Amino acid sequence: MFEKYDYMENVELKNYSTMKVGGLAKFMVFPRTHLELKELFEIIKQENLRWFILGNGSNVLFDDEGFDGVVVNLKHFDRVVKSGESVRVGAGVNFFALNIKLKSLGLGGLEWSYGIPGTLGGLLVMNGGCYGHEICEFVEEVTVFDSGKVKRLKKSDIKFEYRHSDLNQYIILSAKLKLKADLPENINQKMTENFTKKKNAQPYELPSLGSVFKLVHKNDEIIYPAKLIDNLGLKGVKIGGAEISQKHAGFIVNTGEATSEDIIKLIEYVECKLLEIGVKPEREIIILK
Ligand SMILES: Cc1cc2nc3c(=O)[nH]c(=O)nc-3n(C[C@H](O)[C@H](O)[C@H](O)COP(=O)(O)OP(=O)(O)OC[C@H]3O[C@@H](n4cnc5c(N)ncnc54)[C@H](O)[C@@H]3O)c2cc1C
Repeated sequence: MFEKYDYMENVELKNYSTMKVGGLAKFMVFPRTHLELKELFEIIKQENLRWFILGNGSNVLFDDEGFDGVVVNLKHFDRVVKSGESVRVGAGVNFFALNIKLKSLGLGGLEWSYGIPGTLGGLLVMNGGCYGHEICEFVEEVTVFDSGKVKRLKKSDIKFEYRHSDLNQYIILSAKLKLKADLPENINQKMTENFTKKKNAQPYELPSLGSVFKLVHKNDEIIYPAKLIDNLGLKGVKIGGAEISQKHAGFIVNTGEATSEDIIKLIEYVECKLLEIGVKPEREIIILK
């Protein structure tokens, strides 16, 4: 069915998620062009297949039972093209590669994102960020695939909120980001400082999906679920191979043999404990069943 594309069958999803959990996907297809993507979705529609768009899998928990459909992997959408102080970036570019490229191009502004193990597409969908920044601050326009057509959306056409955007209705192909000229050595220093800060505070040494829960905004107050989980003494609580990180209570880590069931049970356990103290946080991670 997918012979003319770059594709694989019966793919171990655990190799495509930073949680290192997940059974087999029936197909994984890596379209190379807009045209291939269009054709691919014609086949998906014709054959009535389930599908899922994958970035770097750093926010997705796959099921141990796998996924009986097509995982569309956008790793070939990997171009980075500078024009003045702006840059057009393919949705499949990850933030490690992007920051290194931007440093060589002398474009600063995104150093805060160095260390986020996701792609531009993944970060845009959830308007991710850290250290006081969100990716939407840098967006000029986003090119998307919408029911077989390529569309360009200006920033003013897109609704960005805290850890959410209405880009989730599309497939993101690329975005034009507005940055600022800077010296590579300045950029490098900021990148290193930010990544060091992250590695000191977060369990980079173990598989995870980053923060499990979003911050809770209640009236004018911001509630940090990680702080509450820590105060409840839950760091180190384990179900099977899943553990509430000893380093950062907002993370659940895979200590080696975690199953998706272990992780979901642990998330539900934390949710119960938080509910007992009157807090109902929203999950930041995506669970693909
Ligand atoms: C150690 C660690 C640290 C982290 N730190 C941060 C942080 O500081 N800030 C932060 O915000 N997040 C952080 N995260 C979470 C994660 O890296 C981000 O959410 C990231 O943006 C997800 O990108 P991804 O490419 O891995 O997306 P995936 O996990 O592959 O996908 C996430 C969602 O986006 C959708 N998606 C992906 N690409 C596209 C596309 N092109 N078009 C349409 N939909 C798409 C998927 O279908 C899915 O619903 C961290 C994670 C880890 C493991």
